[in-house]
Amino acid sequence: QLDLASPDTALPAVRDDLLGLEPYGAPQIDVPHLLNVNENPFPPSAALAEDLGRAVRSAAADLNRYPDREFLDLRKDLAAFLADESAIDEPRAEQVWAANGSNEIMVQLFQAYGGPGRSALSFTPHYSMYPEYARDTFTAWVTAERGPAPEFALDADAVTAAIARHRPAIVLLTSPNNPTGTALELDVVRAAARAQAEHRGLLVVDEAYGEFRRDGVPSALTLLPEHANLVVSRTMSKAFALAGARLGYLVADPAIVDAVRVVRLPYHLSAATQAVARTALAHRAELLGQVATLRAERDALSAHLVRRGHDVAPSDANFILFRTVADRHDVWQRLLDRGVLIREVGPAGWLRVSVGTPDDNAAFRDALDIADPVEA
Ligand code: PMP
Repeated sequence: QLDLASPDTALPAVRDDLLGLEPYGAPQIDVPHLLNVNENPFPPSAALAEDLGRAVRSAAADLNRYPDREFLDLRKDLAAFLADESAIDEPRAEQVWAANGSNEIMVQLFQAYGGPGRSALSFTPHYSMYPEYARDTFTAWVTAERGPAPEFALDADAVTAAIARHRPAIVLLTSPNNPTGTALELDVVRAAARAQAEHRGLLVVDEAYGEFRRDGVPSALTLLPEHANLVVSRTMSKAFALAGARLGYLVADPAIVDAVRVVRLPYHLSAATQAVARTALAHRAELLGQVATLRAERDALSAHLVRRGHDVAPSDANFILFRTVADRHDVWQRLLDRGVLIREVGPAGWLRVSVGTPDDNAAFRDALDIADPVEA
């Protein structure tokens, strides 16, 4: 049905389900303390920026040619990194796939495993983009709820019950979860993989913030040998401090990678992106060196918020969800007035702050004393 009542009939009729929708994205505002999109606050060192520039210059010499469509060298480098990071046997390059951010990874998975007549399930509160992957691939979107605040926990029984109810083609679990910061126990992932296997469904574990998890919390990567229907997705945007380069990746059974290769656009990963990602991986000690600092800053900031009397969701990520005392929008605005941009996201009454540099975090704490005063 065309919307013939649309005010501008000279324009082509957009898809009905897109009418009136706005593009997704947090405000990009130029203020001193950007704590709203869970970026890593530490820019590359001058030496690393120099090396990245050299890698791009060298790729530039061949830019008349399309890039390597299979990028096996990059996939090998990613596999070697994961073997180190999560203490797993090194995945084969055929088990690894990369795209322009984990957002594109997710869309490719939805293109291959979702679609008309199929559904995808996740648990609220979840990352805001998830329903858009479903919408854009004509996949039905269904949700169930995480446990109560402030833990927002998810247990195996709740996950298997929701899977039994919906029998979704895709289940999307997030560990640590955005916006709550909650990491998943492996028994939940295992139960979800088994329940999905009963109707040949896919389980995707989004570990965009995986490297920030607390000691002793294992990655879902350790379960890959047990479950042929498990995909673990990661990104270089957060721990690698490389959000601007756009590199996300997945690890799964080679048959799942093959399905994704069918739907990917040819040459989707530019030669410049491949060169930048490989250079960053070669410098991973430096790039990931700041993760320990950010985890310590996160724990200190959580403790500070708890001391102020806020409800705080326990976080394994590089951000913290907390309940405000005053109206959340007023608090958000008053922080912004003081040069601190955080995110109005999550359940009503809660705000999410990304962990920044020690200086950012101090500015946030000071601004919060004015923006959301607590009774003495
Ligand atoms: N998954 C989660 C849970 C996220 O929070 C984000 C980014 N905010 C992404 C995926 C996408 O990240 P990117 O495309 O930069 O890899």
